[in-house]
Order: sequence, then structure tokens, then C-alpha cells
Amino acid sequence: MDRGHAWRDGLGKPPSSARDQTRRVHTLIVGAGVAGLSAARGLQQAGIDDFAVLDLEDEAGGNSRGHSIHGLPCPLGAHYLPVPGPAAVEVAQWLEEIGVIRQVQGRWQGDERHLCHSLQERLFVPDARQDYPPGVQAGHWQEGILPMPMADSPGAAQTQAQYLRFSQEVANAARQWPFAMPTAHAPWHPGLDALDRQTFAQWLDAHGFDATALRWYLDYACRDDYGAGIHQVSAWAGLQYFASRHGFDEPGASRDPHDAVLTWSQGNAWLTQRLAQGLGDRWQAGQMATRIRPGRHDVQVDALDTRSGLRVRWVAAKVVVAVPLFIAARLIDPMPPALKALAPSLRYAPWLVSNLWLNKPLQDRPGVPMAWDNVRQAPLEMATNAPLEPALGYVNARHQSLAPTPGPMLLTHYWALGGQNPQALANHRQRLARQPWQTWAQSVLDDLSPVHPDLPGKLGRIDLMRWGHAMVIPTPGLRGHPALAALAQPQGRLHFAHSDLSAYSVFEEAFTRGAFAARAIGASKNRPV
Ligand SMILES: Cc1cc2nc3c(=O)[nH]c(=O)nc-3n(C[C@H](O)[C@H](O)[C@H](O)COP(=O)(O)OP(=O)(O)OC[C@H]3O[C@@H](n4cnc5c(N)ncnc54)[C@H](O)[C@@H]3O)c2cc1C
Repeated sequence: MDRGHAWRDGLGKPPSSARDQTRRVHTLIVGAGVAGLSAARGLQQAGIDDFAVLDLEDEAGGNSRGHSIHGLPCPLGAHYLPVPGPAAVEVAQWLEEIGVIRQVQGRWQGDERHLCHSLQERLFVPDARQDYPPGVQAGHWQEGILPMPMADSPGAAQTQAQYLRFSQEVANAARQWPFAMPTAHAPWHPGLDALDRQTFAQWLDAHGFDATALRWYLDYACRDDYGAGIHQVSAWAGLQYFASRHGFDEPGASRDPHDAVLTWSQGNAWLTQRLAQGLGDRWQAGQMATRIRPGRHDVQVDALDTRSGLRVRWVAAKVVVAVPLFIAARLIDPMPPALKALAPSLRYAPWLVSNLWLNKPLQDRPGVPMAWDNVRQAPLEMATNAPLEPALGYVNARHQSLAPTPGPMLLTHYWALGGQNPQALANHRQRLARQPWQTWAQSVLDDLSPVHPDLPGKLGRIDLMRWGHAMVIPTPGLRGHPALAALAQPQGRLHFAHSDLSAYSVFEEAFTRGAFAARAIGASKNRPV
């Protein structure tokens, strides 16, 4: 945050004539997130070795970086990847190459070491019992995150009927429209415009989906995948989550075993570390691009070495712009018209990710044992009216560990702060930037303690990661915006490669966008530049 904001505020901007060094490469990749690293891999495959990758951070991986506490690895951001489906061609090719998946009877299957161990998900369902001590919530853990209606509870039959109807709507949408993962492989279909122009909440209202448990779950899914709730994301996004993958399974429906997820203690950093391996001195850490100037014969990129203060001018035939589009809009001079048209529509969700090291395992509450992903069901009104939406729960970073005896625990707690409207989002981001870490740490403990009253007494350390602009929110109109499609095509010597191009921040989108950029550069390799 300090580096990015210093540059934004003019402090990191060198006088336009100042420069300490000039370096030339065929291709310069600006940004070493998943997309930038995938582009680097693609260039090597295309036989282009004369490239460099810059990132303002000291480590590659972008928001798929990892961390460790007392030697235990944990994620800082992204933590899983579903086993690829048929559309994720580039991702699958690479995962097969590194031994993570293999093909069995025409479908991809994950290697047992990397597949999420059982139990995958559980939900803490509060109940109305009053005989618990103050501050401790009555309730139990159920398997799976979709709330299971209690057979004899009021509204159970209505909830069950809406689950079934929603699963049919998802199946219809998947049959009717090209939903795919990654969307980068599904050309935008004008029939999707109507879904893209309304919020998911509006679509749910129009279709009579009012069951509290269903709406809680769908809002949770949107906050988990897009960082913002059903009142902010488009109906396209709300349906894409299900229609592009496994559909919507009502409780009790049997799940396709191919819908498993791959995960690692350090989350998707396990993947980005592998992508970054072998870059050698083409990897340029702590180098912040401050200006990208496309010209007739080359592209000039000014960069600042954040440690030495040295200014370098890179001169390249091609530049892969693998930074978020809101940053690209500040960097590129002059700004491409498509980026200018799109920039006002871009909204990013802030996130807080906290890693908690506990000296002993937690005592558990009634129900199923600790899962990889552990979520507390919060009342729906809290999600729409409260100053801060409830957190998303925690992942047990040691879930994949094969250690035979229980030891210290590491929990990764996720809080999406995109809110339900732009004003809430702006407030949350300010709060994230300004509020002292101790206040946030206390908020995280307050979120966990009602379910785990013994947690504060076992906490040895908590590390907080603030993501001010973690992921683009697929707000109404964004995915179908013609400028987004335009930016996915080469803009002269510039090739955009970032998950933002899909209006959907996941590994598959970022990786595929990087592969596309490298392919286009590879294809033009033998043409004069
Ligand atoms: C908390 C969280 C949880 C997530 N969980 C998951 C998950 O479980 N599974 C999943 O698939 N996805 C998840 N995601 C999304 C996933 O992490 C992203 O989609 C993916 O990592 C994005 O990669 P990218 O290359 O598009 O962008 P980024 O990660 O944004 O990479 C852009 C890079 O550009 C660099 N940069 C920016 N400005 C400059 C500059 N001026 N000069 C040089 N470099 C610059 C940045 O430092 C960064 O490294 C999660 C994201 C977050 C934040």
C-alpha cells in the first residue's frame, strides 16, 4: 500500500527527464500475478526468452502469494483451484505437466496429494437455545455450506422447493447460454446482456426467490467469489458461479466426484511459486512501473527500483500489461480509448485476510468435525444493513497436513469488504486503510469467539493482510461492456493480461489471459516489430 499510494500521490514519480539506466528486451511483462507469470511461461513455450517480468512487490504471485507463521505455511489470498473442467484448456495443460492432475476416461482427475482432504466444508448453524454462557452462540456444525432445512421447522418445505427450483434455473441457464470456466473461452453472447444489466438481487426478486436460507447462501457465495454481495454483483455473475461449474446441488443431491478442489497449505502460492521457478534474472522484484508509453517503434516503460531508488527505462517491442486495469489506466500514456471508456465502471472489493496461529487445537462444538472450509451462518439482515457484513469464515491451513499428531493450528480467516453498495465499499476501504491493526485483530476475534470461545486463549500470533483493491466486482454492465472485449485484443504493442479482463477474479481467468497474451506475441514473433 505504501509503495502504490506514494506513486499515486506523486511522491514516487521521478522528474520526466531523470533516468539512471536503460534496458532493452523483446517483451516486458508488467505485473507478476498469475496472469503475468502465465504470460512468461507462454513466451518461453513460444521460444521467446528475451523478456523480463517486473513487479512492485518483492515476491511474485500477486494476490495468490503465501506466508508462514512459526514455519507453518498459509495463504495471503487465494487458497484453492477447482479440478479443471473441459474449457480450462491452458490451465489443465500446465497442471498435467507439473503432475497435479491426469486424465482418466477423458476427464481430469486431481492427484490425491493435492485434492482437498475430507471434510471439505461445514456450516455453523445457530439455534435458539438460551442455556449457553454469555458470548457463546448455541448451534451445531452441519456438513456442507448450504443450510439444510430442519424437517419440522416452519418454512422448511418452501425452502426445499426453492432450492430445487433454483437448481433448475441454473441448469436451464447453463443449457441456454455459454457459461464456461474460464469465461475467457466463452465469447460474450448478446443473450446474456439482460442478465448482465441487473443485480443478482433484482433477478432473485423477479423470480420469486425469497427463502431466507437460499438468499443467505447465494449472498455468501457472491461475497466469497466476488468480494461483494447480491445487491452489487450482476445476475450474470450470480449464475456464472454455479452454471459454469457444478450447477447448484440441493442438500442431499449426490455430487459429481470430478467437482473436487485442489488446495495447498500456502494456498495458490504453491502454484505461483512453481510458475515463477526458473525465471532467473528475468524476474525483477520490487520494480514499480510508473509510466508506459507506447510509441511507433517500441514501448518505453519507466520503472522505479523501490529499494535503491534507481530509475530504469525499459525499451521493449511488446509489453504485457498484467496489472489491474485501474492501475493500467494510471500508467499508460496516452490511455487507450477502450480503457478510458471502461475505467469509470471499475469497482474493486477490499479484503482482509488474517492468519491466526494457535498453540493447541480448538475444542469443538456439536456436529461434524473441523473441515477445510468452516463458515458461520449469520442472519441475512446483518448482510444488508450492518455497518460491516459478516466475515466469510476460516480455512484450516493445516488441513492438508499428514502430521500424525495434533499440534499448533493455523487458521486463515477471510473477510470480503465489498459491501452491498458503492458507499459501503468506499467506507470499508477507508476503514481498512486507517483503522489500527489492533482494532481489526479484535474484530476478527469477535467474529470467531462466539463459535470458538477457547480461541482467544490459544492465540499465539495473528498476521493481517490488507487488500485495498483485491478483486474487480462484476457489477451490472461490466462483463458485457464492449470496451472489455476490446482490451482483450492486442492494442498495438500492448497486450493486456489480467483477470480483470474477465470481470472475474479467479486463477483460471488470470492464467488463461496470460496464455492468450503470450500466444499473440508468439504468433507475431517473426513479423517485423
Ligand atoms: C483474499 C483473496 C482470496 C482469493 N481466493 C481465491 C481462490 O481461492 N481461488 C482463486 O482461483 N482465486 C482466488 N482469488 C482471486 C485470485 O487470487 C486472482 O484472480 C488472481 O491471483 C489474479 O491474478 P492476476 O494476475 O490477474 O492479478 P494480480 O494478482 O492483481 O496481479 C497483478 C500484479 O501486478 C503488480 N503491480 C501492480 N501495479 C504495479 C506496478 N505499477 N508496477 C509493477 N507491478 C505492479 C501487483 O503487485 C501484482 O503482483 C482470491 C483473491 C483474494 C484477494
